[in-house]
Amino acid sequence: MTSPNEADVLIIGGGICGAACAFHLAQHGKRVVLLERGELASEASGVNAGGLGGLGWGNNPDLQSYLTAGSFEIFKTLQTDMGYDIEFRASGGLQAAHNADQWDYVRNHALQLQANGFNVELLTTREARGIEPEASEKLAGFLLMINRGRANPTKTTVAFGEAAAALGAVINTGYEVQGLTQSPDGSWQAQTGQGEFRGGTLVMAAGAWSRPMGEMLGLKVPVVPIRGQMWATDPVPPSIFHVIGSAESPFDWNPQPAQDDGFPPELTHHGDVRITRHLYGGQTRNGEIIFGGDRQLVGYDYSQDMTGIEVNRGHAAEVIPMVSKLPISRTWAGIMPFSMDGKPIIGRVPQFDNLFILSGLASSGFGRGPMAAKLLADYIHTGNPHPVLADADPARCITTT
Ligand SMILES: Cc1cc2nc3c(=O)[nH]c(=O)nc-3n(C[C@H](O)[C@H](O)[C@H](O)COP(=O)(O)OP(=O)(O)OC[C@H]3O[C@@H](n4cnc5c(N)ncnc54)[C@H](O)[C@@H]3O)c2cc1C
Repeated sequence: MTSPNEADVLIIGGGICGAACAFHLAQHGKRVVLLERGELASEASGVNAGGLGGLGWGNNPDLQSYLTAGSFEIFKTLQTDMGYDIEFRASGGLQAAHNADQWDYVRNHALQLQANGFNVELLTTREARGIEPEASEKLAGFLLMINRGRANPTKTTVAFGEAAAALGAVINTGYEVQGLTQSPDGSWQAQTGQGEFRGGTLVMAAGAWSRPMGEMLGLKVPVVPIRGQMWATDPVPPSIFHVIGSAESPFDWNPQPAQDDGFPPELTHHGDVRITRHLYGGQTRNGEIIFGGDRQLVGYDYSQDMTGIEVNRGHAAEVIPMVSKLPISRTWAGIMPFSMDGKPIIGRVPQFDNLFILSGLASSGFGRGPMAAKLLADYIHTGNPHPVLADADPARCITTT
């Protein structure tokens, strides 16, 4: 009998990336051991807003299309075909334009997207209020993203863990990896307080802890921890039916400024200075209205900046005025894995044999993680990367310290 400490593939990290990777590798018949220091979904994968998808596949699917549209299908399969209640709903998403400049930007963007086969529609404010009655009548217009939706973050991540375990994967929670070594035959050992685990292949899926994980091997993984924070109201009757966003940050982030300042792209702050307002949220199945948006480089700091929460609440109220009348019942923060060039890091790490990484999914790793994990699992299984993974190749950015 095989030891429970031995695997074909060892995965470190039990967020959406690690758990979904365990499931897809187990589907390929691999013996998998996953090591997570906390519980499944105890970090970003359990505290996010649960927003998914976006634009559909488009005419020429690239990495972004694969990750978002492909993951959307996997979420649907997990609930509809496999029977896990993950609160998945293909609700669609609405992005608000607050003024004429943003509306020009949204309109041009929508025309480009439609020309490329993506599933978006421009709506007047009146049309939007027909499908989202609480939307403000004062806005300039909306972009409807038909292939957007939401799911419960913790339930989904745990469901992937359970689906992997049902196929024989060993999911060990409460196991912190403290050291990594490689044998001359290329196999890996992970040291934990509860003993050593061995695997032919190692997958690092440590989210915002990818840099310290890489340091265990003398590697510099350019992923920084970015704090996201959110707030919720008490449960209220069904009032918001789409995933809600705003065009303000995409407008401000476009065109992308050159990134030579020590910050990854698409943050809301440079240091302590706010450069834009970002918005995402909606209503969960339990009735809470939840919103968030800030993305700030503050290290592994989970404390909440209440000024930022109030700015975000004001932003949300410009789109859905009823939220200004509802008190905030709780706030929370989580740490997201942002790569320095803004692109995912998915694939083989060239400095070592049998070493793979799945990281850098930033602020949309919940909605993109399942397909990122499937692409990586398929790569490990077949030995060949899918062509779209060229854009996520770790060789571009991982160096030796
Ligand atoms: C407030 C907020 C809102 C967000 N909203 C959305 C959204 O609406 N839609 C969306 O798509 N994305 C959203 N995100 C982003 C998304 O949550 C992340 O991109 C995604 O969860 C990253 O998944 P992961 O598996 O890479 O990392 P994580 O979920 O952080 O998982 C990594 C795991 O590795 C474990 N680990 C680290 N080091 C070790 C070690 N040494 N030994 C063992 N285990 C270790 C950690 O404990 C952790 O559980 C949001 C994030 C935040 C914080």
